[in-house]
Amino acid sequence: MIPNTNYGKLKDSYLFSEVARRVAEYSKAHPEKEIIKMGIGDVTLPLCTAVVEAMKKAAEDMGKAETFHGYGPEQGYDFLREKIKAYYAENNVELDLNEIFISDGAKSDLGNILDILGKDNTVLIPDPVYPVYVDTNVMDGRNIIYADANESNGFLPMPDEKVKADIIYICSPNNPTVDVYNIEQLKEWVDYATANNSLILFDSAYESFVADKSLPRSIFEVEGAKKCAIEFCSLSKTAGFTGTRCGYTVVSNELVYDGMKLNKLWLRRQTTKFNGVSYIVQKAAEAVFTPEGRKQIAENIMYYRENARIITNTLGEIGIQYYGGINSPYIWLKCPDDMDSWAFFDKLLTTAGVIGTPGAGFGKNGEKYFRLTAFSSKENTQKAMLKFKELFSAK
Ligand code: PLP
Repeated sequence: MIPNTNYGKLKDSYLFSEVARRVAEYSKAHPEKEIIKMGIGDVTLPLCTAVVEAMKKAAEDMGKAETFHGYGPEQGYDFLREKIKAYYAENNVELDLNEIFISDGAKSDLGNILDILGKDNTVLIPDPVYPVYVDTNVMDGRNIIYADANESNGFLPMPDEKVKADIIYICSPNNPTVDVYNIEQLKEWVDYATANNSLILFDSAYESFVADKSLPRSIFEVEGAKKCAIEFCSLSKTAGFTGTRCGYTVVSNELVYDGMKLNKLWLRRQTTKFNGVSYIVQKAAEAVFTPEGRKQIAENIMYYRENARIITNTLGEIGIQYYGGINSPYIWLKCPDDMDSWAFFDKLLTTAGVIGTPGAGFGKNGEKYFRLTAFSSKENTQKAMLKFKELFSAK
């Protein structure tokens, strides 16, 4: 038996495990110290009542013979897909129901989609970015090239005709660098992909945080994108589903490479390897798209936006350079005193008890940067910002 030796090429520790390890070590040595978590991108507000009520009702359905649900359609129930179709239609994106696939979250689909893409493709991945794109491609042994996202390009790398890639990852709003591509910029990527027979994997996990109405929330708002892009979306940050697990992926019927329809391949992959998301969770997800659910999740997003405002106001006051907090739940800051991002992590942890995420963990261009999240409670956000003021105001 030969194992998948590509696993040997993965970097030793996943970013968040290293963060957790350092925090555990510090807490063990200083059990009396309070720790404020502003690192991992998990939400803190509970599920909204519309979702909870739908879940309860669905659980009741499962307990009665007349409304019990066994195996469902692998690609998701129509009641939820109809809602998602209508959601896209609000931004003038027309989807066929069979183009929408429900899953247990964007992370699974981002990894699983690689099953239907050849291993000889060259992959272009922005740096810094959500680490899953790199690791899942390393596992498959694909050739990876990087697109630098830094201050010189406003953290939004653009296509370069000299660089040839078959698969292109775009995350907008990006995690961790917070910026959002506008329609014209996305159009350049779509044109590049069309001209080069490439495929764009577009991650819109943070679309609901885009406050600026002129910015796109979906790549399908760009003409021609249905012929060259797959979109991944998640209810994790939109509706607090990080622990409930539900997302959706749009694989258009117009994606044809080497005469093969990717929609057909993905359907085949999902029906073979996946048995669908539970009825209860899909009912909960359906409630997210009802008027009541929409209103309630908008209130939660406003709560996180207010946290972001508290963070950016403080950073502005104490003269730390930052990006984001408006169209993204993250704040990307430049480490003061030209500090390395892990050195800044250790300093914040040991002097202020605040945990953030070192930019270097997202790629080499993240070095000397740091990510803070607006997903904490307001109280903890305020506490953390007081600590920042104490530490850095003198500068
Ligand atoms: N995509 C990005 C850019 C993320 O930051 C995350 C989670 O943090 C995900 C996808 C994963 O989403 P899900 O919880 O739906 O798996």
